[in-house]
Amino acid sequence: MSEKTKPYRVLLYYFYTKIENPEEYAAQHLAYCKDLGLKGRILVAEEGINGTVSGTVEQTDQYMQMMKNDPRFDGIVFKVDEADGHAFKKMHVRPRKELVTLRLEDDINPNELTGKYYSPKEFFEAMQDEDTIVLDARNDYEYDLGHFRGAIRPDIETFRELPDWVRKNKDQLQGKKILTYCTGGIRCEKFSGWLVREGFEDVAQLHGGIVSYGKDPEVQGELWDGKCYVFDERIAVPINHKEHVIVGKDYFTGEPCERYVNCANPECNRQMLCSEENEHKYLRSCSHECRVHPRNLYIKEHELTKEEVESRLQKLEEEKSVTSLG
Ligand SMILES: [Zn+2]
Repeated sequence: MSEKTKPYRVLLYYFYTKIENPEEYAAQHLAYCKDLGLKGRILVAEEGINGTVSGTVEQTDQYMQMMKNDPRFDGIVFKVDEADGHAFKKMHVRPRKELVTLRLEDDINPNELTGKYYSPKEFFEAMQDEDTIVLDARNDYEYDLGHFRGAIRPDIETFRELPDWVRKNKDQLQGKKILTYCTGGIRCEKFSGWLVREGFEDVAQLHGGIVSYGKDPEVQGELWDGKCYVFDERIAVPINHKEHVIVGKDYFTGEPCERYVNCANPECNRQMLCSEENEHKYLRSCSHECRVHPRNLYIKEHELTKEEVESRLQKLEEEKSVTSLG
């Protein structure tokens, strides 16, 4: 072995398959994972399973083996990242109605209807055709941290609003090849199937998602700008191993930034890109209302006195009046 491997791993996976009695299966699966020492988040529905977990090399090996031995998950693919430690604090397995929510009148079963699967190489090549539209099938805050160069950012906040957006923007998409992508591929399985059902003829999805695209030895993440948002403690992972272009912008100043924080108002919790300096300056809050919220977590964590908060708010006010004048 040329490289020293790290002691932990993060697994990302999904599989559309029939699971009878998701509640019962979730409880049983949770007990197994806890017993094994894994941490992470797994969703179980009648339509399948979607999870991301962390554990040692041995623990994750055992988990993958158990899953592969279960005939219900025949063909499951795990995306494996090395890690220095756990990427989660707890272990959750939750039963759900659906694995991903598109708010469709008629749900899509990707095992019956889905777009073509493109390998990273095929996706890389197709992306560069003139008649291709690349559609990001994620939430806005995920796009803002990183995306494929030239990809359309639908003007929506969450993935579930995509069908409405597509119907409103049909003219833009008609007659083109449509490529869709998401983090690990699960959202595109349904979304691309829905596009086909809507009458779009040439629809393809990035097989294995952005995460696999970054690991492909040939494309090495080329044409990906920024980082990829992931739903664990790492928050951002690198994808493009040929060049790194920062596209994230600081919420307050617009400067290049790839650091995510949550608004300190627990009732807001808004995700925003923000430098360390601005986190302190703005009390990690997205607005004045959030800064003065009685349960502001930043104020609590830093044990700021009322006077300190007052004086910092005062400073921000002064600065604001200066910039708006000049
Ligand atoms: Zn806020």
